[in-house]
Amino acid sequence: MRPEILFPLFVAVESLKGVGPRMAPAVHRLAGPLVRDLMFLAPTGLIRRREMTVQTAVAGEVGIFDLIIGGLTKPGRPGLPFKLRANDETGFLTLVWFGGSEAWIRKQCPDGERRIVSGKVETFNDLVQIAHPDYVVSAEKRDEIVPVEPVYPATQGITSRQVRKLVMTAMESLPDLAEWQDAAWLAKQAWPSWPDAMKALHAPESEIDLDPQAPARARLAFDELLAHQLALARRRRNRQAVRAPRLAPGAAAERLLAALPFTLTGAQQRAVADIRRDLASGEQMARLLQGDVGSGKTAVAALVLADAIDSGFQAALMAPTDILARQHHERLAPLFAEVGVACALLTGRDPASVRRPVLEGLAGGRLPLVIGTHALFQDSVQFHRLGLAVIDEQHRFGVRERQRLLDKGGADGAVHLLTMSATPIPRTLELTQYGELDVSRLDEKPPGRRPIKTAVLPLDRLGEVAVRLKAAIEGGAQAYWICPLIEESEHIDLAAAEDRARDLGKLMGRPVGLVHGRMPGPERETVMQSFLDGHLPLLVATTVVEVGVDVPNATLMVIEHAERFGLAQLHQLRGRIGRSDKPSACTLLYGQSETGLGKTAVERLDILRRTEDGFEIAEADFRIRGGGDPLGLKQSGFPAYRFADPMAHAGLIRAAADDAQLILGRDPGLTSNRGRAVQMLEALFDWRSGRPSGD
Ligand code: ADP
Ligand code: MG
Repeated sequence: MRPEILFPLFVAVESLKGVGPRMAPAVHRLAGPLVRDLMFLAPTGLIRRREMTVQTAVAGEVGIFDLIIGGLTKPGRPGLPFKLRANDETGFLTLVWFGGSEAWIRKQCPDGERRIVSGKVETFNDLVQIAHPDYVVSAEKRDEIVPVEPVYPATQGITSRQVRKLVMTAMESLPDLAEWQDAAWLAKQAWPSWPDAMKALHAPESEIDLDPQAPARARLAFDELLAHQLALARRRRNRQAVRAPRLAPGAAAERLLAALPFTLTGAQQRAVADIRRDLASGEQMARLLQGDVGSGKTAVAALVLADAIDSGFQAALMAPTDILARQHHERLAPLFAEVGVACALLTGRDPASVRRPVLEGLAGGRLPLVIGTHALFQDSVQFHRLGLAVIDEQHRFGVRERQRLLDKGGADGAVHLLTMSATPIPRTLELTQYGELDVSRLDEKPPGRRPIKTAVLPLDRLGEVAVRLKAAIEGGAQAYWICPLIEESEHIDLAAAEDRARDLGKLMGRPVGLVHGRMPGPERETVMQSFLDGHLPLLVATTVVEVGVDVPNATLMVIEHAERFGLAQLHQLRGRIGRSDKPSACTLLYGQSETGLGKTAVERLDILRRTEDGFEIAEADFRIRGGGDPLGLKQSGFPAYRFADPMAHAGLIRAAADDAQLILGRDPGLTSNRGRAVQMLEALFDWRSGRPSGD
């Protein structure tokens, strides 16, 4: 329940004066739907306004002038501006408007009246002029013009100044709240109180105050991180209270282990042990198996799926694409068949006649194991006794989708959840993204892999690269050729991929496969399949091959316009090769942008040349780019923080997580004084309302 004192913050922005139906959508886009969201919208810059006279005016700076308005000259012909003369004791200047109307100008600037005018100073024919002044106010309203004006983000339909006005109105509702942070910690950091931090946020005095490390901003970032970590810690605690069936390995798991064509790595063994501990605990598991591409997550999943079946429960493995689901099925079904476990495939694309027996088998309990896509979420899919769900490439699924699968549990308690991800993220960020999950890492690659030789070359060497590729293919190699597909120019890039496939086909003198995201599924599948079967030597693809696909014989990869990809994405793409004991090579071709390829871009790509360790790559990319969203975390359900910048505030994340544990450990009901204040913090940030966030 939301405390009453916060009610004024949790009303719609539409309730503020000046937010009409035209402006509201813009405010929603910029800040969010609530007055609280406006209050939490941080300025991104500032404008310094200095008092000047016509004589002391400095071109290029923003001045505040005290003027007497004079005569108006109308534009002599279309395209020329209105010009208004005005003066102070030191001389004359001109106010200029392109467009507008005489009536509108004269209303603001009646002839002979005194006006305070502010705007950027220009000189034109040696005369001081201000084009489109920011402010023209009467002397009584002079206070509206502040010497240091915060600049807010703006968008179509709303200007920075309109935003600022709304923020100021929202700030009138700033409640006085008891301090939730530990007093000693606040003192140590030299951070202001929450209300002071909020006020300082909206009244920066210099650029220093805009820095993420400025005391007010750091404090608010920590508040936000703490609120988030509290929500995650609470969810984790709640989950630990959820009863779930006790699952333990039996004959099937044992025989499956024996049937694997390899022995598990130490990391795989540790992960299996972690998972088995969870499955046997009687509490619901929510674990993330984090492992770089090729680290062998599938084998771990297979073993613990067998545990569920051994314990008399059903198990499900879900993959984000048809291709992946089918590939998992092709690999695992024979293995499970060896140990006497039937394994069905369920995708959205199968006709009803294929689906029906699977659905019946699952509902009736005759089918112990199913591998599928999103189709498994659907209501028509009923399980007799689902005990464990494994979700591969978990970031491709929404939280709600995950939940829908978990809801398919039955009388025996909740469904255990194992999610798997190959998206490498720095350890500190793991806390913000996966704070509610237990994490096992596969930090050891299966033996026998040869390193992938990676080269970074300019795009103009494409021809040469293609010729070398031809020789390799004639020697029996298989290769991927990746073309970028960028949303805004999807059509153009698609055409480029088609052209590339045609040209390469001509050069190679043999058929070349093409797969792209817009291709109808079955068609894509057919092409992928003939690549997998070795019938096609070369596959031209947009990034649809990114996840999971395993074609061990493919040892070469060329990536065009590598500079357009995120490093994590390139790393995952490259992970498609180097999957056998044959040597593999990857060529990253970078294009020159109009402005010339920045040094950073080459430096970035060079990281991939130096290492194949996904975590090292993620950390390095993070350091080089210094923020932004280099890992594509926003798309993968990373929380949309308002104040916290996971890069700039990385050091605060661990502290917030520890603090959250400490607070809930000491006072689970949050009934102490600090506990109650902390409840207010949580309610204030209320992780579920306002801006969308993944978790
Ligand atoms: P990912 O973690 O990217 O999903 P996979 O599970 O697809 O990786 O495994 C990649 C490849 O490594 C597969 O061909 C798999 O058979 C093989 N593999 C997995 N574990 C081992 C191991 N312990 N020893 C040797 N090969 C392994
Ligand atoms: Mg995989």
